Amino acid sequence: MVDLKAWLNQQREGGRLRSLRPVIRRGNGRITLAGDDDRELLDFSSNDYLALAEHPALIAAAQQALRRFGTGSGASRLMSGDLVIHHELEDAVARLKGKEAALTFGSGYMANTGIIPALVGRHDLVFSDRLNHASIHDGCRLSGARLVRFHHNDLNHLEELLKKKQGATTPLIVVESIYSMDGDRCPLRELVELKERFGCLLMVDEAHATGVFGENGGGVSEEEGVSGAVDLAMGTFGKGLGSYGAYVAANREMIEYLLNRARSFIFSTALPPSVAAASLAAVGLIRQEPNLRRKLHEKIDYFKMLLRTGGYTADLGPSQIIPILIGESKAALNKAHLLRQQGIFATAVRPPTVPNGTARLRFSITSHHSPADLAQAAKALLEIMDI
Ligand SMILES: *Cc1c(COP(=O)(O)O)cnc(C)c1O
Repeated sequence: MVDLKAWLNQQREGGRLRSLRPVIRRGNGRITLAGDDDRELLDFSSNDYLALAEHPALIAAAQQALRRFGTGSGASRLMSGDLVIHHELEDAVARLKGKEAALTFGSGYMANTGIIPALVGRHDLVFSDRLNHASIHDGCRLSGARLVRFHHNDLNHLEELLKKKQGATTPLIVVESIYSMDGDRCPLRELVELKERFGCLLMVDEAHATGVFGENGGGVSEEEGVSGAVDLAMGTFGKGLGSYGAYVAANREMIEYLLNRARSFIFSTALPPSVAAASLAAVGLIRQEPNLRRKLHEKIDYFKMLLRTGGYTADLGPSQIIPILIGESKAALNKAHLLRQQGIFATAVRPPTVPNGTARLRFSITSHHSPADLAQAAKALLEIMDI
């Protein structure tokens, strides 16, 4: 058993101690921190990219489901918690992702820690990008498979490892399409070429791309035209889709297998009907209103343009997630504090969430942000970075 006091002190001294602070949502991307009087901050930490969490269509769908079906689903899917709305949602997700079938999970964390151990075990190999989300990493560890981590987005390194480690069973490759802390993008087409050449199974986590990329919001795999080659198309409802929960889309056989084998699916209560209804409304919206996506991308481009013309020269990446690299944890916390004084809430992301020495401010642009909001944030950011 660890010495709690010593551990907590050590974290505190290193600027690594995390704490909770309640937020009051004011709407339109504005928040107030509890105990901070009524001062409004512009929220640049939210993953509600398309502002769907406050969209009337999602709220109405959830309210209707609440009234008709109550609050909880009452049981796991394999017991009596398997509601028609779950199937409607899975059908809609399968269509969105260009797959035969889909399965929903309680959360993205549960999806990754359920799917990976269902697919690989002690005698298998799993190749995982070094910067993959903790839930993917935990899923790999839980599986007991031999875990081979390749340099972030480095397919030459992956190829080298695939050649060296090839074994008797089909290896699994797991990546994200848009990386959650760096905002950069996996070279999916090249990866598909590689996985086909080496006969691997490919799983792509589109947590940050669903709704935001692709003609119908189906993510980077849709945009790159590789949906058919992605064996396991995983994503979440809690970010760009403004709801909660997660999905995996695949062929029918794979889905049938997973609902029999993924323990986080089998041994957990089904998503509440109102949550499934909100997700279903979101999947419909992102297909019917590509304008939601177009407008978000205009905002992202505008913010990046402001930073560049203001003299910021480091890479701003290809997505709505913009990492502003600082270095040490304490320095990042300090910069986040300075931003807050200027009315901007951006989280300082620190180790162990990101590698040592790469603490950063993570800006995420959402549809809530008006041009004036973006201008205010860019100005504040340039100022605290002494540009
Ligand atoms: C957020 C995230 C998850 C976890 O999803 P939750 O629904 O929040 O549990 C999984 N993978 C990636 C890449 C994520 O960013």
